[in-house]
Amino acid sequence: MLTFNRYLRATSLEEAYTEAQKKSSVVLGGGMWLRLGKRRIGTAIDLSDLGLCGVEETEDSYRIGAYTTLRDLECHAALNTQYSGVLRESLRAIVGVQFRNLATVGGSVFGRFGFSDVVTVLLALDASVELYKAGVVSLERFCTMGRVNDILTHVIIPKRSLSVSYHAQRNSATDFPVLNVCAARNGEQVTVCVGARPARAVAYRYTLDGTAGKAERIANEIASRAVFDSNTRATARYRRHLCCVLVRRALDDILEKEEA
Ligand SMILES: Cc1cc2nc3c(=O)[nH]c(=O)nc-3n(C[C@H](O)[C@H](O)[C@H](O)COP(=O)(O)OP(=O)(O)OC[C@H]3O[C@@H](n4cnc5c(N)ncnc54)[C@H](O)[C@@H]3O)c2cc1C
Repeated sequence: MLTFNRYLRATSLEEAYTEAQKKSSVVLGGGMWLRLGKRRIGTAIDLSDLGLCGVEETEDSYRIGAYTTLRDLECHAALNTQYSGVLRESLRAIVGVQFRNLATVGGSVFGRFGFSDVVTVLLALDASVELYKAGVVSLERFCTMGRVNDILTHVIIPKRSLSVSYHAQRNSATDFPVLNVCAARNGEQVTVCVGARPARAVAYRYTLDGTAGKAERIANEIASRAVFDSNTRATARYRRHLCCVLVRRALDDILEKEEA
């Protein structure tokens, strides 16, 4: 069972950051992942009073507060219209609605989980994270960083005219994904992100013209370049095979949508 000695409802980001510097402190998101641990925490830091809930739409971006829930993203009309429903599609298999009403965007991104659907999609949308002290860092770079002792305040998705497609394979409906892929095309440039390898998602960039042959070549190349591992859900070999299939589906989907 998770236990903590002290509960701090922070009144400012500075107070939360200062407290978070102590090794025994932990920043709370929705607590859905944290609660599975057996750690004894010194201070649990709650950011509920710091106005970090909700999606702010500006002329050139969507700025998502860390305490926005996964369900809020899944149901966000403007984001889903802008990105072909890819957020709805990628989030709907995460456990259940009640769970997604509690799990936060901040906890999901800060965790950089090797099974994450959330990170794979946000990476394809070229998102950045806003950290209280370190400032804005691209999600791609954040995914390569070691331990970060900061507070994630926002996730920023730039407004782009993208064709996007998301695909995942699960052994059963709401289990962790065996592999997930999100491709986003901007003009002739396509970014293909592969996650649940099972390791942090990675992005590959290619030029994609409208030919099916090119899509197949890209799918084969990513499947051979990416590093996969085995766990209780699947072998590395199966994941490599899946990668080729899912990337091909995502690229074909984008080409078909654009043709239509
Ligand atoms: C049973 C189960 C199944 C799941 N299945 C999937 C799945 O299929 N696909 C998927 O993508 N995800 C899945 N997840 C992950 C889930 O969607 C959330 O990402 C996860 O629960 C973390 O979100 P949270 O808000 O609960 O964060 P918490 O558990 O509260 O925190 C997670 C970590 O982030 C830190 N943290 C939280 N917020 C901040 C912040 N603002 N700044 C700095 N640090 C912070 C915490 O200290 C902690 O280390 C699953 C989780 C569980 C428990």
